Amino acid sequence: GRKFFVGGNWKCNGTTDQVEKIVKTLNEGQVPSPDVVEVVVSPPYVFLPVVKSQLRPEFQVAAQNCWVKKGGAFTGEVSAEMLVNLGVPWVILGHSERRALLGESNEFVGDKVAYALSQGLKVIACVGETLEQREAGSTVVIAYEPVWAIGTGKVATPDQAQEVHASLRDWLRINVSPEVAESTRIIYGGSVTGANCKELAAKHDVDGFLVGGASLKPEFIDIINSAT
Ligand code: 13P
Repeated sequence: GRKFFVGGNWKCNGTTDQVEKIVKTLNEGQVPSPDVVEVVVSPPYVFLPVVKSQLRPEFQVAAQNCWVKKGGAFTGEVSAEMLVNLGVPWVILGHSERRALLGESNEFVGDKVAYALSQGLKVIACVGETLEQREAGSTVVIAYEPVWAIGTGKVATPDQAQEVHASLRDWLRINVSPEVAESTRIIYGGSVTGANCKELAAKHDVDGFLVGGASLKPEFIDIINSAT
């Protein structure tokens, strides 16, 4: 079976005090063992080292982005190699906010995913309505995040999420392989809360969540627990 996956995307939020509080809430939370649920939180770059060092070891961290190729003269960017060097295992790529606000194209996101995987990072690849990346043999989690559900309070219904997740898995089955289709976690993002996570999690092809706003609040613990 596919291990339930819960990602917390903090986006561009947080002060040192707030980060300390969130880490404390996570460290004190009662959650299932990492054999049952994989929990990955994604603070802004500047907080990654402190969060990684202070978080209890069964929680992992992700960067929210990285550069498309090897580092060098690319002012303002952070390379995949740097993340590996810091011991950051995961990176979120292709989030719709980066596509919409920073002009990241499918091709650019696809190149980023390929490069990050080649460096040994695990990737949370975000898709809206199309899927552009297929990679076998590495760890890829696909986050389906309907743009209309992100930050709007308008969550997809469990049936809507299930329908898209099942068709993404069909796409993987046909275009990659039955094995990759079976093993790839397909997670849902967009207005997930402690109140709506349970019925979404009950759907067969919903293998976890990528949580924005609610990942900054204590209810993130309830979302982690929705697997069980
Ligand atoms: P919200 O949970 O705030 O809607 O954000 C979802 C998201 O974009 C996670 O990456």
